Amino acid sequence: MKQIFQSVFAEGRKLYTLNSTPQQNLFSRDSEQKALPKRLFDEEIVVADGKEYRSWNPLRSKLAAAIVKGLPELQIKSDSKILYLGAAHGYTPSFISDIASEGVVFAVDFAPRVVRDLVFVAEKRKNIIPLLADANHPEAYYNLVGAVDIVYQDVAQKNQLEIFTKNCSMFLKPGGFGMLALKARSIDVLQQPQGIFLAAKRELEKKLTVIDYRLLSPLQKDHAFFVCWKN
Ligand code: SAM
Repeated sequence: MKQIFQSVFAEGRKLYTLNSTPQQNLFSRDSEQKALPKRLFDEEIVVADGKEYRSWNPLRSKLAAAIVKGLPELQIKSDSKILYLGAAHGYTPSFISDIASEGVVFAVDFAPRVVRDLVFVAEKRKNIIPLLADANHPEAYYNLVGAVDIVYQDVAQKNQLEIFTKNCSMFLKPGGFGMLALKARSIDVLQQPQGIFLAAKRELEKKLTVIDYRLLSPLQKDHAFFVCWKN
């Protein structure tokens, strides 16, 4: 296994993170009475040199897809403080919590059904703080979160750009990074995704410096991934 970023490893086309909570993988027994590590998301667990690695599926995670598609740098560090918008059941947040193992992930979602699952994930991973909130109203969680190193967003809404720039201007520290998974079809189902992405890039550049932009298809259809820097 080859290390490519902080706590991120690759073997062939497969990605893994170093599991920051291996003690959670209390061994259970399958029907053949073999010891099997318990997993939160059905991910494959590989044990090597006494360490545990969790497989990270680029078909389920836009950040993993961006890495597989050649993201040159990962700005998330071991002690990063992250605001994650659109956390859903916690799949990608759980891998970011491995990467930022000494940091904290504020995981926001407005759907009570998924936040229930997120609370369960946060019980196992102490650096995830689940927040039931609408990312359109960042003032609701401003006092809890404060300034962050990274704003990560994956919300698939028509006004996803507005939500992203609003949260970046409110929470990102100068020198911090915004990471945006943009879904073209949520903005316009008829327009060609490429046109939507280029218009989005121009819009982002009014407020932030876009340092990386890549298409995620075919791993994530009609999605692009932007990394922005706030100066
Ligand atoms: N990021 C997740 C992952 O990789 O594991 C998947 C996110 S899913 C595509 C989009 C999520 O965004 C949904 O759970 C939805 O409830 C949430 N969402 C959409 N609009 C939102 C908003 N305005 N505020 C907070 N969450 C929102």
